[in-house]
Amino acid sequence: MNRRNLLKALVAGTLVTSLPGLSWSQTKPLPWRNWSGNQKCSPAVRAVPGSVAELQNLVRESTGTVRAVGAGHSFSALVPTNDTIVSTRRLAGLSSVDPAKKIATLGAGTLLSEVGPLLDAHRQALVNMPDIDQQTLAGAISTATHGTGRELRSLSGYVDGLELVAANGELLRCSPSENPDLFRAAQVGLGSLGIVTSITMKNRAAFRLKREADWMRFEEVIEQAHALSRSNQHFEFFYFPFTGMVLTDQLNETNEPVQRNEEIDGNSGVMDLKLARDTLSWSPQLRELIVGSYMKTIGKHSNVDHSYAIYANDRNVRFNEMEYHLPAETAMEALAEVRSVVEKNFSEVFFPFECRFIAAEEAWLSPFYQQDTVSIAVHRFFEEDFKPMFAAVEPVFRKYGGRPHWGKLNTLVASDFAQLYPRWQDFLAVRESLDPQGKFLNPYLKKAFGLPV
Ligand SMILES: Cc1cc2nc3c(=O)[nH]c(=O)nc-3n(C[C@H](O)[C@H](O)[C@H](O)COP(=O)(O)OP(=O)(O)OC[C@H]3O[C@@H](n4cnc5c(N)ncnc54)[C@H](O)[C@@H]3O)c2cc1C
Repeated sequence: MNRRNLLKALVAGTLVTSLPGLSWSQTKPLPWRNWSGNQKCSPAVRAVPGSVAELQNLVRESTGTVRAVGAGHSFSALVPTNDTIVSTRRLAGLSSVDPAKKIATLGAGTLLSEVGPLLDAHRQALVNMPDIDQQTLAGAISTATHGTGRELRSLSGYVDGLELVAANGELLRCSPSENPDLFRAAQVGLGSLGIVTSITMKNRAAFRLKREADWMRFEEVIEQAHALSRSNQHFEFFYFPFTGMVLTDQLNETNEPVQRNEEIDGNSGVMDLKLARDTLSWSPQLRELIVGSYMKTIGKHSNVDHSYAIYANDRNVRFNEMEYHLPAETAMEALAEVRSVVEKNFSEVFFPFECRFIAAEEAWLSPFYQQDTVSIAVHRFFEEDFKPMFAAVEPVFRKYGGRPHWGKLNTLVASDFAQLYPRWQDFLAVRESLDPQGKFLNPYLKKAFGLPV
């Protein structure tokens, strides 16, 4: 066994053999940070229970705040607490499959990258997926994580039922027919209702997708985006600031065999764009000319793969992100305005804006609640101060009626959410009835829910 494998084996051993009653816990505060590093805390306890019974025990006996964590890929302060952070990473895997109904039940801590192969073994697939697959299933549905597809909902929109451990330690089950109010709240629950242990997903038959990427001019895409979103199963595009150029991405079901070619996505080459920014920032015109001309020379390319293997890209350059979900009709106008704000005031920006299409759904706190949506996301390199640019574009998103992604940066407060979400008070009532003491609330959520911090 090589040294790295030895280390892995030793770590795995400690996960299943340490403290009685709680398979893993530490005695000194162990710092936690999220993927981009903009959220940090030092929880007194970090627990990774190995069974639902252990989790129930932990919830019953903990004092102070208990926050669930998935893979730590949210940019907003949903997770931080200095009391207890609990991961459901060990409650993972496939527990049941119904081939006739095309549903499957998975552990809350299953990574999206694990879900695809697990379902594929039973000839099922998630209906849609986001652009990375490193999140846990529970973490992803808790913030309405989405991919792109005008007719397709977020992951939360395909939840068919779930189980969670409530503040009193009780295991509750909900679905459209059992505890329906809890179900509509828990489909996008922000970890504020309890710790989710398992999730039943409504799936479809396994399928392959062909991905085709191409370049267009910004003005062309603004005109054609809605038509392209209608004529493709999944359509999204990336606008590269200061270039006038857009990379389009179109994914459609195919019977063609798997074929992997050189891949370009909205994040690849991002360090080349940084280099162009660093060396050509003295002349925005020259930067637009050089980078824009280079992009036009990159030809169309395509790949074919199993659906679960094709959605996700590597996001190996860290960033911070703001994403708003806007009513589809006005989103292109909003995008043009965001472009203008950024290009007039922030010549240092090099990360592309990402635009995606999502269908309306029914979860009470889904940003896609009863609204067909276009999402617009803006990014800043993780070492740079994101605040000035995000503060400049957020009023544009808000002017067009946008709802922020729950896992991404925004400055909204309770009164804003109450205006944006017709079922806001219903959600708060379900939460209050389950957890009147606010065991699952950290300062960020208390503020969001209009409670004293
Ligand atoms: C590089 C990158 C790419 C991304 N791409 C996309 C994308 O394509 N589309 C998109 O919509 N979003 C995207 N996101 C955002 C991301 O999908 C969400 O923030 C998601 O919630 C992160 O999941 P996680 O498992 O890391 O959960 P965390 O960020 O750890 O937690 C998110 C929320 O889930 C709750 N939670 C976690 N586990 C449980 C549980 N067992 N029970 C109850 N609550 C729980 C937490 O309390 C918290 O409120 C991206 C983020 C990054 C960093």
